[in-house]
Order: sequence, then C-alpha cells, then structure tokens
Amino acid sequence: MTVSIIGSIAFDTIKSPVGSGERLLGGAATYAGVAASIFTPVSIIGVVGQDFPEEHFDFFKSRNIDASSVERSSGKTFHWEGFYEGDMNQAHTVKTELNVLMEFEPKIQDHQKDHNIVYLANIDPVIQRKALQQFRNPELVLMDTMNFWIDSKLDDLKETIKQVDVLIINDQEARLLTGIDNLIKALPEIIKLGPKRVIIKKGEHGAIMYNGKTYFMCPAYPLENLADPTGAGDSFAGAIAGYLAHSETIDDEAFKRAVIIGTLVSSFTVQGFSLDRLKTLNWDMLEAKYEEMKGFIGLPESLRKLPVL
Ligand code: AMP
Repeated sequence: MTVSIIGSIAFDTIKSPVGSGERLLGGAATYAGVAASIFTPVSIIGVVGQDFPEEHFDFFKSRNIDASSVERSSGKTFHWEGFYEGDMNQAHTVKTELNVLMEFEPKIQDHQKDHNIVYLANIDPVIQRKALQQFRNPELVLMDTMNFWIDSKLDDLKETIKQVDVLIINDQEARLLTGIDNLIKALPEIIKLGPKRVIIKKGEHGAIMYNGKTYFMCPAYPLENLADPTGAGDSFAGAIAGYLAHSETIDDEAFKRAVIIGTLVSSFTVQGFSLDRLKTLNWDMLEAKYEEMKGFIGLPESLRKLPVL
C-alpha cells in the first residue's frame, strides 16, 4: 500500500529546558513523512516559501520522500515558535506565523491520487479536506489536529473529522474538542463525530486506542532524558500510517502493533532537536526496541491467572 501525508512544512523555533534552536526544519508533514519513510516510500503534500532551502528537498529525496506535491510559493515558509518546561508534556506556543499556508490550495499529482493510505497531518482543516477530496478511493484515512484549529475553525474541523476513519489527537485536544475532562467519557463522543477509531496520545503516559467497543493501552517507552518533544505526535502518527502500509489486513491487531511502533518511533524523536534523532532510526533498531517493549506491555504467562486466595 502507498501513503500520502498532507500537513505543515515548517521552520520551528524551539526552547526546551535542555537547549534551543532557531528555524529548524519541522512541521507536521515533515515529521510524519520522515517517520513513515522508515517503512515505505511516502509522498508529502504541503507548501513552503522562497526562504526554504533546497537542501531540505535534497534531504526528502534521500529518504525516498516524494515531494512533487510540495508547492514553492512566493512568501515565507510557515513558522512556529514554542517552548517546553517542567515535564515537557505540553508545548506552549509563542507564535504561529501561517505565512504561505494562508493561501495554500493543495494540488495532488496524478500519480499520487490512487494512494490507499492518506494521513491528514496537522494543518488547516479546510486544506485537509481539499486535499482528501482529490484522492480517488483511499482505503484508510487518518487525521490529526491541534488546539489552534479547535479554537479557530471548529465547524470546519468537525466537517473534516466526519470524513476520516481514524482520529489521532492528544489528551488536551480531546478534552478541548469534546468539552469533557474524563478521557474515557470523551472517547465515545469522538466516535459520534464520525471516525471508527480514536487514538489519544498522552505524552509520557503513553496512548489509548478505542474502536467504539474496546480499549488498547500502550505505555510510553521509558525515557530519562528528553531534548525536544516537538514532532512526537506527528512521528507517532506517521509511523502508524507507514507501518500499516505493510499490513495485509488493517484490523485491530494491526493497529495495536502500529501503536506500539508509533510509540517507539516518537521515543526517538523526542531525544533530539528537530529531526536529529528520528533521522538515525531504522527498522533493525525498531525491531530490537519492539522486543524490549513486549516486556512492558501485556501480562506474561506467569501473571495471566490469579492464584486462588
Ligand atoms: P507535535 O507532533 O504535536 O509536536 O507537532 C509539532 C509540529 O507542528 C511542529 O513542527 C510545528 O511546525 C507544527 N505546528 C505547530 N502549530 C501548527 C499549526 N497551527 N498548524 C500546523 N502545524 C503546526
């Protein structure tokens, strides 16, 4: 199966307790695309400005990322500035300069229109919809969003959510979207908006997946040191989309494996600034980490049955 990802391509200016960086390569489609490219060739769709260096396009090419639907527009590249503090579980936005994103009309190249997995990464929900409409018959559509769009474009966002199979958001966004603090109560409310499946990311507390009937809980990979959590959510979702491209059937089991894989990929993202650590990750490293994760998840045979008291 083939994967297309629509989303922001950005310059990120970031401060965290362990360092800072200015105008680093970032954006939701960038992180998701690089994560998905560990598993499969992938296309990214987005827009950049005149200030976007050619070397970033060279980097996409080196990762087998098809950027032929990335438009270079007159104006400046989208720029996000944020900081993290304390447990770094939440990004605080300082500035969001939409720049070229404001006028962006996505145009999917013909050779990408039959791609069967489409991931609508974080970007204006109207752009997400305009892109989705151009795919002929995708088998699986996943989507992310963030508080910025929940606050500014709620009706448009709900219209887009209606059209997707899987919504992947973080705990704060789930609360903001539904107005419900308790996540277990919020999950069925999100299902009522349209998607068949919801995956809620909870930072250091892992992720919870709900298919309308059953839950799957995945702990985060235990990490002592984080450098920059930017892109954790995007690389989590991009890895899920990329990994699922290899599944013969996209069922509950495949999704469970994909969520574990997404968790492992994002654990690499957060250990470096920008894409520094994510770039170093390959399938062999992931296979080894997956073995390790098995020990943290589920009950070993010896604990499956309670002894009689
Ligand atoms: P996350 O995976 O949630 O940490 O996503 C971080 C990425 O989202 C950064 O690289 C930003 O460039 C990008 N971003 C921040 N704000 C927005 C926004 N309003 N729309 C689209 N992308 C954004």
